[in-house]
Amino acid sequence: MPSDPLLSVRDLKKHYPITQGVLKKEVGRVKAVDGISFDVTPGETLGIVGESGCGKSTAAASLLRLEDPTGGAVVFDGDDITDYDDAGLKRFRRRAQMMFQDPSSSFDPRMSVGESVAEPLAIHGMRDRRRRRRIVENLLERVGLSASDFDRYPHEFSGGQKQRIALARALVLNPDLVVADEPVSALDVSIQAEIISLMRGLQAEFGLAIVFISHDLSVVREVCDRVAVMYLGEIVEIAETETLFDDPQHPYTRALISSIPTPDPARRDERVELSGDVPSPSNPPSGCRFHTRCPEVIPPEQFDLEQREWRHVLDLRLRIDKGIDVDDVRAFLVAEDVADAPEAVPDAAVERELRREFDVPDALSDRAAEETLSSGLSALVAGDLEQARRTLDEAFTTVCEREHPELERTASGSEPACHLATESVAIDPPANHD
Ligand code: ADP
Ligand code: MG
Repeated sequence: MPSDPLLSVRDLKKHYPITQGVLKKEVGRVKAVDGISFDVTPGETLGIVGESGCGKSTAAASLLRLEDPTGGAVVFDGDDITDYDDAGLKRFRRRAQMMFQDPSSSFDPRMSVGESVAEPLAIHGMRDRRRRRRIVENLLERVGLSASDFDRYPHEFSGGQKQRIALARALVLNPDLVVADEPVSALDVSIQAEIISLMRGLQAEFGLAIVFISHDLSVVREVCDRVAVMYLGEIVEIAETETLFDDPQHPYTRALISSIPTPDPARRDERVELSGDVPSPSNPPSGCRFHTRCPEVIPPEQFDLEQREWRHVLDLRLRIDKGIDVDDVRAFLVAEDVADAPEAVPDAAVERELRREFDVPDALSDRAAEETLSSGLSALVAGDLEQARRTLDEAFTTVCEREHPELERTASGSEPACHLATESVAIDPPANHD
């Protein structure tokens, strides 16, 4: 029977206001973490992985209340820490420690390493200096340094050694939970392996739960029991490590896994290309946040479009939704010697250029889809952006854009938040064209 969770995170949110002017009027919000939920059991290592900017560090800081969450609950050993007063927080911080990426900035250069590691003991009331020293010397040896390092200073140590010292400091109060934010990302690969094996050894010894944050999937795979994949402030898939890597259910997870460097040339060809850039967390896409880049975005049911073709059509459509200046295209075509003046550029050439830019074929494989696309593009080229949007949106909007998928367990054992994975969801409403 699985043990009760040590940590239960429910719908945790952290939004940062975007303000303007001297009055600091709020004009928007960066939704850095936007409703994440997961459990961590005692002794377990949960990985959080995702591209830079997806909200990992904000999640770490919010769940330890180094930042005050905007919403949601963080239940630690039965208590909601978001309700804690200062005394409650202080008790909590004995039991939950943080480790950061940059070992250099984690230490006060004027304090000896021993004093730094002992500091939490002093803060939490251990007055006896000799006792503190004994504990720290012992711990320094357990992280692979020596007792005599107590009196040396941070600059005398390498990055890897400093991360050993940071680990000693995280463990000095004998915590139940360590949240480690990219703890090995600044280190050489060989040193990473040493620190990881040290962490694992100490974890077993101390019965520690670890939330291990990294952008590096191969590290997460090695260290974690379970992994949560984040995208734009949300968890898009969570599963046991083996399940996640052997049978990823979310297209984003598949893309991340396919981009892990490999010496095998056959596997290199399997790399999944994502279209476009990560959108801004202040204005995340509707429905599934990944739909603007997803290589498996669900096509409209009423058309028979190939996946790649559909992806390109959607890219073009989303670009038109954002607003596209057809005069720019005309000017470009003049520069390309297609005509002498913008007015002289034939409409058909503009349309061709738009298709070319988005890798949309001159004629789509599905006739009805082609008719709709070409009528939308004609409206656009004729200067009626609104009409173009209406035509294209009506025909080419799918469930991925309309409905927010929730995490749901699949037969594989993984929990992805993806409309593809949950067949009970109606893929599309009844076609509304006759
Ligand atoms: P990660 O650790 O995954 O790289 P972060 O949690 O650092 O991501 O950042 C998530 C998003 O929140 C980013 O878009 C980042 O720019 C934004 N962000 C982080 N901290 C702040 C802050 N203090 N104020 C405003 N925006 C922030
Ligand atoms: Mg970070």
